[in-house]
Amino acid sequence: MVALDALHFDNRFARLGDDFSTAVLPQPIEQPQLLISSPAAMALLDLDPAHVDPQQLTRLSAGHSLWAAAEPRAMVYSGHQFGVYNPRLGDGRGLLLGEVVNSAGEHWDLHLKGAGLTPYSRMGDGRAVLRSSIREFLASEYLHALGIPTSRALCVTGSQTPVWREREERAAMLMRLAPSHIRFGHFEYFYYTGQHAQLRQLGEHLLASHFTPCLAAEQPWAALFAEIVERTAQLIARWQAYGFCHGVMNTDNMSILGITFDFGPYAFLDDFDAGYVCNHSDHQGRYSYRNQVPIAHWNLSALAQALTPQVSVEQLRHSLEQFLPSYQQHYLELMRQRLGLQHADPGDQALIDDLLALLQGSATDYPLFFQQLGADNPAAALRQLRDEQLDLAGFDRWSRDYLLRLDRQGGNPAERQQRMQAVNPRYVLRNYLAQQAISAAEQGDLAPLHELHKVLSQPFAEQPAFTQYAARPPSWGKHLEISCSS
Ligand code: AMP
Ligand code: MG
Repeated sequence: MVALDALHFDNRFARLGDDFSTAVLPQPIEQPQLLISSPAAMALLDLDPAHVDPQQLTRLSAGHSLWAAAEPRAMVYSGHQFGVYNPRLGDGRGLLLGEVVNSAGEHWDLHLKGAGLTPYSRMGDGRAVLRSSIREFLASEYLHALGIPTSRALCVTGSQTPVWREREERAAMLMRLAPSHIRFGHFEYFYYTGQHAQLRQLGEHLLASHFTPCLAAEQPWAALFAEIVERTAQLIARWQAYGFCHGVMNTDNMSILGITFDFGPYAFLDDFDAGYVCNHSDHQGRYSYRNQVPIAHWNLSALAQALTPQVSVEQLRHSLEQFLPSYQQHYLELMRQRLGLQHADPGDQALIDDLLALLQGSATDYPLFFQQLGADNPAAALRQLRDEQLDLAGFDRWSRDYLLRLDRQGGNPAERQQRMQAVNPRYVLRNYLAQQAISAAEQGDLAPLHELHKVLSQPFAEQPAFTQYAARPPSWGKHLEISCSS
């Protein structure tokens, strides 16, 4: 365990120099108050939550003080936003404070989101509002608990600093952790500005720091891209299997490490709706739930273009072709697990496709479907679920196929139930739950936020005191409109 002020820094990205980022100091927010912190994220830095001085953490996470070894930098990048290339983005309201090295030798970027103006703020104010900071905190820690790779959140600090969005709100800061904050858009920036030496430097930094096994390949850069494709395929498979909608899959929001990154108006599916668009500002539905798969592929193609100075088009194309089959394989495996199916059966893909076609438009809650099916008697669960269906004959057919499939695989029902409970969360970060916690926090009541975070940190465990969080969402709580404005 280390003391908060004794964290060890090794700022590798900062050392790449001024072509990659600009030194900027955080601008403090007024009357800061530490609202919530994540003990699990603290452990990544070897911090003991019981011994972290809250006053000190508040000052550090509100821009009032800084570790002596931190070197705050705003990173430059660009990217495709809603399909259109934007030549200059960058950290407009966040700063990479430095890289903390823990006792296991891992580097963790410390990033302060909402830290004030930078050279990349464009028309923005450099701030983050309380609601979006809380939403990112909850989502990062929840996705991690689900086993979905993601950036992490150390804490959220509120303030009395006013900021204007659609209404006057209060500024907050989020202390974020990730092994790296490099995005697809970093490579696009150096490619489209013709800075190929810097592009090489960036790739070499990644290879040396985050993709060391690729260095052993005959062509490390080609191996690097192949690995990014594979990680992205695995990530998107998890999003789709668990009904996570990111909402703003611009290439500047795509992590080069294949982790969930830059949360905006995200949502988890309540009802199953393949065309669901969680971002109220996404009028075309470009980033709908079902489009996340082709969009990830599109984003990887944009990255591939930016890597053409280093990797042959043939090799890039070959890796890109692996995306869909790899995604499908991972998705199928995850859905098998969610349905309690063991040993691949050639009919499994059709069984899953049929199920989703039936759920589309039905009154069934997507996460609760798996919960109920994982109850001790699947035949009884299916009889109950039948009442919620539109296509009764289709559902009966599916139920028969599913029960036959379970019979064929045999095995002990209690053991299947256990396997299903280990992969199907009882507790889901529903938008309305986040909204309730945010509204209370805005009124100064932090208890609902703390309770929600606690419940969601063990999404698979039975928590008898918190069954209300596992309930079907009320109809007003579905499809809340969340926009990009944060
Ligand atoms: P996002 O949609 O949050 O991924 O942001 C896209 C770009 O806009 C990034 O370069 C952000 O840094 C920048 N940005 C978003 N909000 C603000 C803000 N309030 N002030 C300055 N820059 C912002
Ligand atoms: Mg972003």
